[in-house]
Amino acid sequence: MLNPKRIFRFFRKPGFLFKLVYSDDYWTVDLGQHVFPVQKYRLIFEALLRMGARKEDFLLPPLPRDEDLFLVHTSKYIKKLKTGNLSHSEILTLELPYSEELLEFALRFVGGTILTAEKALEDGLAVHIGGGFHHAFSDHGEGFCVLNDVAVALEKMKHEGRIQKAMVVDCDLHQGNGNAFIFAKKDYAFTFSIHQMDIYPAQKPSSSKDVGLWSGDGDEQYLKELRSHFPLLYEEFQPDLVFYLAGADPYEKDQLGSLKLTLEGLKERDRIVIESARRLRLPVAVMFAGGYAWDVHDTVTIHLNTIKTAQKIQGKYP
Ligand SMILES: [Zn+2]
Repeated sequence: MLNPKRIFRFFRKPGFLFKLVYSDDYWTVDLGQHVFPVQKYRLIFEALLRMGARKEDFLLPPLPRDEDLFLVHTSKYIKKLKTGNLSHSEILTLELPYSEELLEFALRFVGGTILTAEKALEDGLAVHIGGGFHHAFSDHGEGFCVLNDVAVALEKMKHEGRIQKAMVVDCDLHQGNGNAFIFAKKDYAFTFSIHQMDIYPAQKPSSSKDVGLWSGDGDEQYLKELRSHFPLLYEEFQPDLVFYLAGADPYEKDQLGSLKLTLEGLKERDRIVIESARRLRLPVAVMFAGGYAWDVHDTVTIHLNTIKTAQKIQGKYP
């Protein structure tokens, strides 16, 4: 006779092969009328539940400790943030309205990326439903980025001896100026950025490797560049951990850019970055970074496609 428990297991939705890090703090912040679509985080979470994600697939990030933040950020900047003493010009540079909820929003993402890095090291892969605030510097925030979650997580993993070297693979539309600057003289971190040249940030501090594309460039140019660097850079640098910033904004229907990547092109981008790392057994922590499509559902689709691609690859290279 069939065991009822086995029947239950057979019919139960499959769930995910890695952890998904998420908090409701990611979308409850009120930014007013803003191009940054915080509702994407909630829409992605709900879509994942419909796709069969179970409660145990999600991890709620704790807030980071001040000691973790100080690995990257100056105590002066953290104090200004925590006491609500940013100047008018600092808030203008940040391009987000300051509030206590905004601070909580930024802190929670740092905790989320730390947790995602830890889980990636344990399981080979983990996905943060958020993170990737690559325009934040040690002493100030800019371009919608208050705190640099990836830099803090990378430094913490290094500080705790969990890794020797890490690579940041930044495929957001915008150049990763914060990470480039923070890690400029640190040989244990390799920063790669592929981005549109003729948009923000006007000043682009050098990453370890920058690939600049121009308005109108699409799948063909983008993927050709990516294939010429991966897996080569992984083989040469041999990182113990890869932080992948899978920005949705190189998309052809994005409001902030004019690269012309299609949904299929973005899927192939994700596949190249994640699969060439997993084939070499490198742990990958995925962050979502930007995404400002005219239709927020396109941004959600792009991020969900990244998760689906990660799921397929993790099935092949567990
Ligand atoms: Zn961006």
